[in-house]
Amino acid sequence: MTRRMIIDTDTAADDSFALLVGLLHPDSQLEAVTIVSGNVDFEQEVENALITIEAAGRSGEVPVHLGARVPLARPWYEASAHGDGKGNHDFPKPRQQPSDERAADALVRIVDENPGEIDIVAIGPLTNIATAIALDRDFPQKVRELRIMGGCDNSVGNVTAAAEYNFYVDPEAADMVLRAGFDTTVVTWTLTLSHALWGEPMLAAIADIETDLAKFFTILDKPNLEFNGTVGIVGSTHPDSLTAMLLVRPDLVRASSRRFAAVEHHSDLTRGYSLFDDRPARNAPNVTVIDDIDAEGFYRAYCDLLKAGAKR
Ligand code: CA
Repeated sequence: MTRRMIIDTDTAADDSFALLVGLLHPDSQLEAVTIVSGNVDFEQEVENALITIEAAGRSGEVPVHLGARVPLARPWYEASAHGDGKGNHDFPKPRQQPSDERAADALVRIVDENPGEIDIVAIGPLTNIATAIALDRDFPQKVRELRIMGGCDNSVGNVTAAAEYNFYVDPEAADMVLRAGFDTTVVTWTLTLSHALWGEPMLAAIADIETDLAKFFTILDKPNLEFNGTVGIVGSTHPDSLTAMLLVRPDLVRASSRRFAAVEHHSDLTRGYSLFDDRPARNAPNVTVIDDIDAEGFYRAYCDLLKAGAKR
């Protein structure tokens, strides 16, 4: 079944790989890309998204809307894992220009024109989604499904011991969005480490795929692989592409659970901590958390995408 989606992204490395799912998977119809402040410099994120659209052979076909340049209530906090987010490689200047319409306006308009039809894949800090709610309080009810990459399932984070990056960067937005009444599914950093970590043999097999798209993947993946090596993670991590893939490949989900989720935004020590409670009698569930996936199936599905290559 074709899913009509908007991808909200702080585009660097695995964000680009998620965009490729939206741009090229046969069951995806990507309506728009919205850019949010996160991983790398905002203008670099925009360029990375446009380069990815170019690499997919879809220049000019999917609009890119510029969104929040800072979190709701805090300064920008750069991620250290990505270099410039495009493999520190010099790509030709992309032909497509960004849209004049801002991200939050585009989110509200597209969803308003297609109530119950549009899925949002949110793979950066949740500032743009929170801003869309501020513009239209009925926005959560009109979105079909909201898929979020964020948080840790009561485990150690990747920015601090308490927090995963996306929720750490804009914890006010994350908490607001989780409580806003969307039909929400969360892919956590915890699931990523156990099920979307691709080691050297898997990456070598991708490097052997003879398409320009696989070469693009290998270039962009390298800084993440090198950074992970410095923090004891053996392989490259694929949280965003997993989040996008599970929308078009729901058969890859092996287990999920309904939970109450909220994000800490008062403390310094636990800023961005995601609380997931599986006791419905204590806290009414507001999200579905993906607990287990077919990890091998995800990898194979992604390889199939790279083998098929760019649209011609
Ligand atoms: Ca991201």
